[in-house]
Amino acid sequence: MLLEEMTWSDAAAAIERDAIIVIPAGSIEQHGHHLPLGTDSFTAMELAQRLAETRDMVIAPTLVYAAHARPAAGGGGPGFPGSIGVPMRVVADLVEAIVGDLFRQGFRRLVVLNAHFENLAPVTDALAEVVPTCQDARALLLTWTDVVTGEDLEDIGFPAPGGFEDWAVEHAATTETSFIKCFRPELVRDEFSGVGGVDRRATYEMFPLPPDLVPSSGMMGDAQQASAEFGERLTRLVVDRLGEAIDRELGVSA
Ligand SMILES: [Zn+2]
Repeated sequence: MLLEEMTWSDAAAAIERDAIIVIPAGSIEQHGHHLPLGTDSFTAMELAQRLAETRDMVIAPTLVYAAHARPAAGGGGPGFPGSIGVPMRVVADLVEAIVGDLFRQGFRRLVVLNAHFENLAPVTDALAEVVPTCQDARALLLTWTDVVTGEDLEDIGFPAPGGFEDWAVEHAATTETSFIKCFRPELVRDEFSGVGGVDRRATYEMFPLPPDLVPSSGMMGDAQQASAEFGERLTRLVVDRLGEAIDRELGVSA
């Protein structure tokens, strides 16, 4: 159930039932020449909708204005046209305000379902501030990469030669491309999926950013082996694991 499609009386009923409220958190960020700027947002929205198929969940509008991409976290950095980043303190203030308002209205169980690594610090900050001020409120911050390991990816047939390296290399690469091939295939430009990589990996933050830490295509790795089939297997695994965490921490509701 999408909040923006509900009436206020529908929302009141959801609060009365103690439905879980989910905020998908994505970004508007470059994902190479082959994936849309909304990749993280589409991913968070799709995962939320699949979770809501079997749970009493209300999906709030997606957080698309997100923290700046950083190469050390797998993003390509802020230098790409179309990427919109805002300071972390702005994200933290916005999330604190939104979550505070939802709890004020009576929601008591909240999930932030994140698909953009750089949102982690500001959302953590926001939830740590606001949750203790709301009686009986509980919140869970889940980034989809929290619930799967490299071994899990190999188990479901990670298609890239050489196997899974690490999450930072996955920016706009096999996993994210497979997701979008599965969710929004019409938006993937396959002919540009093989031009990933960077000369030097950033493992720390540098200001200003040295240009050789930024992949010229925006992709940290190759995406040529990505497929909708792998995307579907990965989606099912991630949704199962996210669901287990939500049911365990916030209680089952169907
Ligand atoms: Zn991404």
